[in-house]
Amino acid sequence: MSTIFDKSRIGKNKYAVPGYGLSSSGDIPPSFLRSHVDLPDVNETEMVRHYTGLSTLNFGVDTGMYPLGSCTMKYNPKVNEKLASMESFTSLHPMIDCCYSQGALQIMHELTEYLCSITGMDSFSLAPAAGAHGELTAVMMIKKYFQEKGENRPVILIPDSAHGTNPASVAMCGFEIKTVHSNPEGDVDIESLKSLLDENVAAMMLTSPSTLGLFDRHLTQVSRLLHDNGSLFYCDGANLNAVMGVAKIKDMGFDIMHVNLHKTFSTPHGGGGPGSGPVGVVSKLVPYLPVPAVVKQGNEYMLNYENKRSIGRVHSFYGNFLIMLRAFIYIRMMGEKGIRGVSEHAVLNANYLMARLKSEYHLPYKRICMHEFVLSDRDLPNHVTTNDVAKRILDYGIHSPTVYFPLIVDGALMVEPTETESLEYLDDFVKVMKQIKKEAMEDPDMVKNAPHKTPLRRVDAVTAARKPVLKWEKE
Ligand SMILES: *Cc1c(COP(=O)(O)O)cnc(C)c1O
Repeated sequence: MSTIFDKSRIGKNKYAVPGYGLSSSGDIPPSFLRSHVDLPDVNETEMVRHYTGLSTLNFGVDTGMYPLGSCTMKYNPKVNEKLASMESFTSLHPMIDCCYSQGALQIMHELTEYLCSITGMDSFSLAPAAGAHGELTAVMMIKKYFQEKGENRPVILIPDSAHGTNPASVAMCGFEIKTVHSNPEGDVDIESLKSLLDENVAAMMLTSPSTLGLFDRHLTQVSRLLHDNGSLFYCDGANLNAVMGVAKIKDMGFDIMHVNLHKTFSTPHGGGGPGSGPVGVVSKLVPYLPVPAVVKQGNEYMLNYENKRSIGRVHSFYGNFLIMLRAFIYIRMMGEKGIRGVSEHAVLNANYLMARLKSEYHLPYKRICMHEFVLSDRDLPNHVTTNDVAKRILDYGIHSPTVYFPLIVDGALMVEPTETESLEYLDDFVKVMKQIKKEAMEDPDMVKNAPHKTPLRRVDAVTAARKPVLKWEKE
């Protein structure tokens, strides 16, 4: 791909902007004036073709199946976008007086109530900007809770299957991390947990369902052990896609959690765009939630900043409103039955794929899965690896599954189809995965040198991460 600067030739663009009526000497201080601006010189046709061409290089849920495990790349209904782009929402100023933003505040308040009803939690804060930010917020609350109780508990337990953001958030808050092992069936190893539990443990952070795509069968026992020890139980509920409408997080024994609106509740994500990671708590942790809280007094909604026990603010204003709005619309559209249906179909789709692929690819945990499952490259012939499969699948117009995660499975391939794929797309995925297995046997170089049809062939991922080139520079 050439850049637009490569296409530039002096004098190609014959268009000139009429004068603005600004005199360069008088209106702008000379120190701010540039003598030369290095813009590409192309004509309109070239410019349109260039950017339209770039837009076709994108892969997204709107172009094909995106089975990226743990990321819940479900279809994002266009009605969300349509409503979220209404001027009455987009031009609402964050500092406007509450009496002029009652509608927006009502949406936030009702969204909080929906999240409480879906998870069973007693209260939610919508302030955190993403999942990892929700974790950080929650860990800060856990810290404050024990500080107020006068207890010094410097340790947080995290299973070896955890999402990478969990230990990162915990470390940022100054806690020490201790690793709880998983047993051969993929559940928390109770003996490992017991050996780590003492008066230093503030909490345990558990992803549920786990990153292996499994529902831990010992949750209530884990919860009892933690509570008997005076510790809190944290649920990383980034993806509620298997449990919402079916089981409540609080009923499983958790005290505090976060959920990613941008995964579970269908708002576009990836590439570091805006997200929302609300934190939910049981009643004893409510005082520590970040400010502001959206409260209802009589028929009026307000933002309440007055709370001395709160950990304070974690985001400017109240969080990413337009993401909350999309999630609100999605929940309202789905309704109670629809929300349950999402979970049922997400679980069904994942189990269907797992059942059809387990004879072709090694399946380390042979159990009914939740919204995702993990395969591995253990049994692939001719030293074909997970990375090779992930690259070859691109040639068939499908996004790669998540690879080499969770870390406890060597060569992991984590597949999450989501509920929004039809049987035809699921069958196509099976066909492609079987074809790649066949190629691995008959023509392994084909797989090892993939991708063949993408605009860029195999990139040097290590150099790309270590020496990123983030902007074009003239030679
Ligand atoms: C995605 C994810 C996170 C992190 O969420 P971000 O919004 O990317 O910060 C945390 N835990 C789990 C299990 C996740 O899947």
